[in-house]
Order: sequence, then structure tokens, then C-alpha cells
Amino acid sequence: MATQETVEHKYVYAFAEGNKDLKELLGGKGANLAEMTNLGLPVPPGFTITTEACKAYLATGEEPDGLAGQIAAHLASLEQAMGKRLGDPEDPLLVSVRSGAKFSMPGMMETVLNVGLNDRSVQGLARQAGGADQQATGGADRFAWDSYRRLIQMFGKTVCEVPGEEFEHALDDAKRAKGTGNDLDLDADDLRGLVDAYKKIFFKHTGREFPQEPREQLDLAIRAVFESWNAERAVLYRRQERIPADLGTAVNVVAMVFGNLGPDSGTGVAFTRDPASGAQGIYGDYLANAQGEDVVAGIRNTVPLQELERLDKKSYDELLGIMARLEGHYKDLCDIEFTIERGKLWMLQTRVGKRTAAAAFVIAGQLVDEGLIDLDEALHRVNGAQLAQLMFPRFRLDHEFQPVAKGIGASPGAASGKVVFTSARAVELAAEGESVILVRRETNPDDLNGMIAAQGILTSRGGKTSHAAVVARGMGKTCVSGADEIDVNVPQRRFVVGGQTVVEGDIVSIDGTTGKVYLGEVPVMPSEVVQYFEGSLDPEHVDNALVRAVHRIMSHADARRRLAVRTNADTGADAARARRFGAEGIGLCRTEHMFLGDRRELVERLILARDNAEREAALAALLPLQRADFEEIFREMDGMPVTVRLIDPPLHEFLPPLEQLAVNVAVAQERGEDVAQEEALLAAVRRMHEENPMLGLRGVRLGLVIPGLFAMQVRAIAEAAVTVTRSGAVARPEIMVPLVGAVQELETVRAEAEKIIAEVVGDSGVEVLIGTMIEVPRAALTAGQIAEAAQFFSFGTNDLTQMGWGFSRDDVEGAFFWRYLELGIFGISPFESIDRDGVGRLVRIAAEEGRAARPELKLGVCGEHGGDPESVHFFHEVGLDYVSCSPFRVPVARLEAGRAAVQTDGSDSR
Ligand code: ADP
Ligand code: MG
Ligand code: MG
Repeated sequence: MATQETVEHKYVYAFAEGNKDLKELLGGKGANLAEMTNLGLPVPPGFTITTEACKAYLATGEEPDGLAGQIAAHLASLEQAMGKRLGDPEDPLLVSVRSGAKFSMPGMMETVLNVGLNDRSVQGLARQAGGADQQATGGADRFAWDSYRRLIQMFGKTVCEVPGEEFEHALDDAKRAKGTGNDLDLDADDLRGLVDAYKKIFFKHTGREFPQEPREQLDLAIRAVFESWNAERAVLYRRQERIPADLGTAVNVVAMVFGNLGPDSGTGVAFTRDPASGAQGIYGDYLANAQGEDVVAGIRNTVPLQELERLDKKSYDELLGIMARLEGHYKDLCDIEFTIERGKLWMLQTRVGKRTAAAAFVIAGQLVDEGLIDLDEALHRVNGAQLAQLMFPRFRLDHEFQPVAKGIGASPGAASGKVVFTSARAVELAAEGESVILVRRETNPDDLNGMIAAQGILTSRGGKTSHAAVVARGMGKTCVSGADEIDVNVPQRRFVVGGQTVVEGDIVSIDGTTGKVYLGEVPVMPSEVVQYFEGSLDPEHVDNALVRAVHRIMSHADARRRLAVRTNADTGADAARARRFGAEGIGLCRTEHMFLGDRRELVERLILARDNAEREAALAALLPLQRADFEEIFREMDGMPVTVRLIDPPLHEFLPPLEQLAVNVAVAQERGEDVAQEEALLAAVRRMHEENPMLGLRGVRLGLVIPGLFAMQVRAIAEAAVTVTRSGAVARPEIMVPLVGAVQELETVRAEAEKIIAEVVGDSGVEVLIGTMIEVPRAALTAGQIAEAAQFFSFGTNDLTQMGWGFSRDDVEGAFFWRYLELGIFGISPFESIDRDGVGRLVRIAAEEGRAARPELKLGVCGEHGGDPESVHFFHEVGLDYVSCSPFRVPVARLEAGRAAVQTDGSDSR
């Protein structure tokens, strides 16, 4: 105790000393027990040992100085409050020892109930429970021995690592001997026998007798909870959920209340609204004559909470009142655990409850209606990942479809197809136009081609950071991982699930959101939220709580956000869809597709041109085609800015592959055909072959090397803009030069472009901006110079990430990212979410130095990061003007831009 001069570190808090904001220190469970205590709710008294004590213990392997004394002092207060002593043979106080970290980790860590029971206090407990009531004695005996066997079981398993099945087998044996399947049929004598059997199991595995000393039981249990923080499954869970590894868990010591004292006792769990849909009402399960862990363990069938109204109206009404009070207090959906001991209600836990994506929106909307929160707060309560989930197409699940297995929803979406077991077969069938699902025990880098070819990926092993999961998310492909009920046999090309055998070619359907696997083809339908964005569901009239809530929250996000949201679109159709999704312009219109299809032939002529005349003829033929493309897009985006990127990829991408061409030429020569044209092409392909095309002749470099190429594109853009404007619409082109690393490159292109624009635009009133991508690190570092020649910057964060990290995107994700994630070198692929410290720093430097040189410089981002929630927050912070992303991500970006604007503190929204 604090007898020295120095103030001792405080490791233990009575419930009355805490509150809900102390989650970091007291864990979620402890902080909320304290909050409920201070609200005057019926919480059994107890105290919380802090996460700091846990961290100190884990660091040194020993309880920190002062902890034992503080526990003794708090235990003494608890004993005084209860009028009983821990494990007293006459009238024992019993306690539970419960883990509880800052973030809830359901079922990951440990809890021990009934601490304080031993061979003597079990008798005292029985006598006290029986009281004066003679008839109750039989039941009281039963209760006491039931509690004791539970203690040995939980203590053995949790504290001493005795395999849990051994206890379960012994319990099954006892039930079988009695000829029953229900543990309630075991009487006091049976349970006494079971305690003996449990003690033997305990001795067999630990080499010692079950500890009889109550304080020793308590100390060992506390230690076990500390250590459970580093149990393998807890470590895995944290990695999956991205919960930091160094938080530690708190330990709650709580006076026991008993739900297993007879039919007028029981235990249950409840939600203050439906966590699946958000609908208001009473949701929960109740189990009479049981202790809390029975509800979760599913030992007996629970009844719906509504039944409690019939069983014990007084407790039921009190519970409803408390639930309403908790909602009002937390201003959110709460879940709770409670126990009724002989008609007296006790609250054992509450927290803001987890919910589905749909429920998150619906509940946020309801709470606004109820006046509990404002719209800013509602925006805070939902997120882009949830919205994205609500936009995936979903299976139409009629009664005939039952899942056969459930794994981890590793990459969302709904996919059906023929089962294949090898990458090669996936590629083969996909080439025939089949949709396939690649099924593997786990994937490895050799499976990459098959993963690309497949509609979806299903594995029987591995979690959210397994190879399959990481790669699938990178590719935006549906994936269910770790469906361990599926027994995959690759050599025999089949898998077995629930006794059924599925062979290659059979059809399965996988849901990458729920992780569920179905046999056969489940029909797919667009989600309601997409129908709403598409304009086919009117939120004012439709009777759909979700659509109305999404509409309301999106409108608020739009009102609050400072970032504009544009889209990446190359065709009029994409542009139109993105507009419906709320895009305010095009941030990236790629021109390369305009060189594909039947235009390839013109590109070949351009590349093979032997003189200026031939080249100019090819360009002249391309010009009207390009112009028509731009006209369509400008018309679609009437009045909104359209950023057109001049041709970017290396030209050989437009030519046939070298090997194929060589074979064709050889075969034709063999036949004695005239191959002059093919030979010239082959020579050109050889000449243009690059070891490292992504770092080779592409982007602005092409424009500087091939005379007339950029000029043709600039002319097509300007002419299209003039035509569209003359027809009464407003075209606002922004010409973007890719891959610039030095201001001189941009100046050269710009000088030529400005001449053409001046000539074409004349007095039409069209204004054309010229700017550049910032995607080469050197451009970011010389942004001050480049800004002198650019009217806007658009950050190409894909290339900036490739070149910033030196990663070739096409190679690295499949090759080693899984390992980097496993080692925690990064928590998420830097292609998925911007690397704030490195690549993000380049963005920041370029934004600051660019604006310093040219204050009116427009800043945007057009990499895929533009639709990633975390990255959107970063771009908001850096002060960009807009983000641009694929049409489907536009709503996500709008929502996150709104959230970024209202997020005043750095608190996370987990
Ligand atoms: P988890 O975090 O896994 O839910 P808990 O610490 O909440 O673990 O405890 C497991 C079960 O034991 C819960 O159902 C809870 O209600 C019950 N329980 C915990 N402490 C007590 C207590 N003091 N009296 C009665 N039941 C308890
Ligand atoms: Mg609990
Ligand atoms: Mg690029």
C-alpha cells in the first residue's frame, strides 16, 4: 500500500471510479460497467485492473509492484459491500474474473466464473442458497455443485490449459449415464460425481490438485486473463481487425450473481434494436436456470427475449426501461448481458453494439429523427466501407438456397461459376467464356493467372490477410477464404462439404460479403442502394428505411464536404453513370482505348510510317475518330470539367506480341507467302521492345519523340470542345500531360499545344486548361518549377506508389505482399490505401510547393486511391480540390469527403 512518500501507481479502479470514456485504461467492459454503476443501474459490485497492469505484467512476466496490495484493498471493500468473504466456508463471496480490452474481441479472451468455490465453501453456498426453505434444499445443493463443476471446468481450461473437450466428454458421460441430453436433469449427486471426475482430469493434466485457496484461485485467474492477450487466436484476430497489438486487456473482478438458482433465475443477451436491419424492437435470447456462458455455448436452446414477459413480468419491464435508458445515454444501439437471480435483475455488460452496414445507416437516420444525434454525428456513425458493401450486387436468396459452408468474407461481391481446382483449368475455361470459381486449400503466387481468370476465389484455409484475400481485394474480385468445412482435394479435382461431393465443372456461388458458400447458381440482383443512386428508387416515396437513410446522410455529406468528387471515365456511358452517382466532372479520361479495336490498324500505320507523309496520313485518319469520342464525353458532361490525359502507355502495347508475330512470319514464309508487311511490323516490334516498359518510352516521352502525336490529340480535344459549345452545351476541357518529371518536358508540349488551341478555339469562348500529372517522384520534388508551366496538377498515385516504393504493381501483389502484411511492414497494400508517410509526403510537398508558386493551381488526384476512404481523408487534410475515382466509388468518395469535413478530432470510428 502507499506507505512510502511517493504516490503509488494506480492499477485498480472500483466501478464507481470509472466511466465510459476510460476504455483505453479500463477496457470496454470495465469502462461500461463503471458507467452503468454511476447511472445507478443494478450492476454487481466489483473492480477493474487496468490495461497498464496487464502491459507491465506482459513486459516482465511479473505483477507490477503494488498491484497485489491494491487488489487486496479492493477485494476487502467488495467483501464489505457484500457482507461476505471470498470463499468463506460458511457463506462464500464468489467472483467472476473477466477479460475486456479497449476494442471488443468476442470470444477471443478468457473469463472464469464462480472463483472462490472449493470443497468446503461449496457446502456453505448450498446452505445459504437453501436458506430456511426446506424444500429448496435439494435445488440449492444442485446449484452449488453445478457452480463448482463450472469453476473447475473454466479454471482448468483457461488458467491451466486443460483440453476443454475432456470436461465436455465427462459431462456427456454423466448425462448418458442418466439417460438424458439435458444438463438440468443432473441432480446434486450426479454433479458431485462430476466434480470428482473433473478434479481427476485436472490432476491428470496439471500434476496438481485443483487449488483450494480462494485468493490463489483469484490471482491465477487474473494472470491467465493477462496472458490471454497473447493467445494465438487473439493475436490472429487483432491482425485481421487491425487492432494494435500493444493495448493489453483489463481484468474485471465482479461479484457473482446466479442465474442457475432455479426456474425463477436465468440469463440473457439483448440488443436495443435489430443489429441486422436496424429496426426498432426487442431483440434477444433468454435461458432460464443457467449461467451466462450457456447462452453463447448453445448448450441448451434459448427462447426469444419476449418470453421473459410471461416468465417474469417485473424483471422484463425493468429490463426494457434500462435498455431505453442506455440508448438515450449512449445515443446508440447497445447490446447487453444480464442475469436474473431469483427475480432480481442484474446488468453484467453493455456496449455500443456491432451492426451490419444496412443497420448502421438505418440506425443513424433513426437517431437523428429521435433527436438523439445531429446529422454531423450521423455522418460520423457510418463509413464508406459500409456504403461500398451496400452497393455490391447481391444474391437473391429464395428459400431453396441454403449455405453449405461459411468462411470469411475476404473480398466482397457475389459470384457464381463452375468449380475449378487449378490455375491452368481456370484460364482454359475462362477462355471459352465460362465463368469459373477457383477453389484451393490456399492460394500461392502460382495461382495468379487463375485468380485473374476466375469470377471468384474460394479457399478452405486462411484469413483476411491470406494470399487469396489480399490478392483478390487488390483485383476487386469476390473471395471467400478459410471456409474450413470444405475439404479440398486438388489431385482428384473435387471437394467434399457436409457429406456432398462437388467435382470440377459443378456450379457454386460464393458471397464475399457474408462468406457464405452455396451449391448451384444463385441468381444475382442489383442492390437497392445502387437502384437509388441510379435514380430508379425515389427516396421520398419508397417505403425503404435503408434507402431513405442513405439519401439523407449522403445529402448531408454533400452539403458538408470541401473536396469535389470527379470520376475516371473513358466513354460517354461511363460518364453518364458516374454523373448519376454524383460525379462533378471527369478527373481522368484515358485516351488509349481510342487506339484499340479496329483503330489498331491506323496505329500500326503510324508506327511503321517510313516518312512524314505516311505518318501525317495516319494521324489525319485518327483525328476525326478521336474528335468524335471527345464530343460524346463533353456533351455528356455538359458544364463540368473533363480532364483528358494524352496518350500514356508504351506504343508497343498496341502492336501484336513479339512471339506471336515471329511465329506468324515464319509460318507465312514457309508457305511462300508475301510477308513484307509482317516483316516490317516484326522489325518494329523488335526495335520497340523494352525490358522495363513501365519506365520506358511512354507518357510525355512519346509526345516528344513522335512528331504530331500529341498535336493530333490536342487538336481533336479543342475541335470537339468548340463543336459541342457551338451546339449550345458547355465543354470544359483540361488537357493533362502524363509522366512529366521536369518542367522542360511540360513547357515543350505546352508551347505546341497552345498554338493549336489558339488557332482552333478562336472566339468560340472555349477555355482549355493545360496541366500535368504528378506521378514521377521527381515531379513531386520539383513541383514549384513545374507549377510555373501547369494550370493544374493531378496526382497519379498509382504510378507515384510504384515509383516511390520501387514496386512493379503487376508483380508485387501476388509475389510478396502477403508476406509484408504478415510481417506488418505495412498494414494494408499501399496501392489500396495511400502510404501517408512516404508517397503521401510526396503529395504534400508537391501540393505545398505547387500552390506557393501558383496560388490558383487546381489540385486533384486520379489514382485508385481517390475512392479509398482512408486516402480521401488524407487528400482532404492536404487540401486538394477534388478526388477522382471509378464511377462505382463516387458515392463512397462523396460520403468520406463529408466525413472528413466533419471529423474535428482524430478519434477513430471503429
Ligand atoms: P465475454 O467477453 O466472452 O462476453 P464475459 O466476461 O462477459 O465474457 O463473461 C461471460 C459470461 O459470464 C457472460 O454471459 C456474463 O454475463 C457471465 N458473467 C460474467 N460475470 C458474471 C457475474 N459476476 N455473475 C454472473 N454472470 C457473470
Ligand atoms: Mg460478455
Ligand atoms: Mg500513370
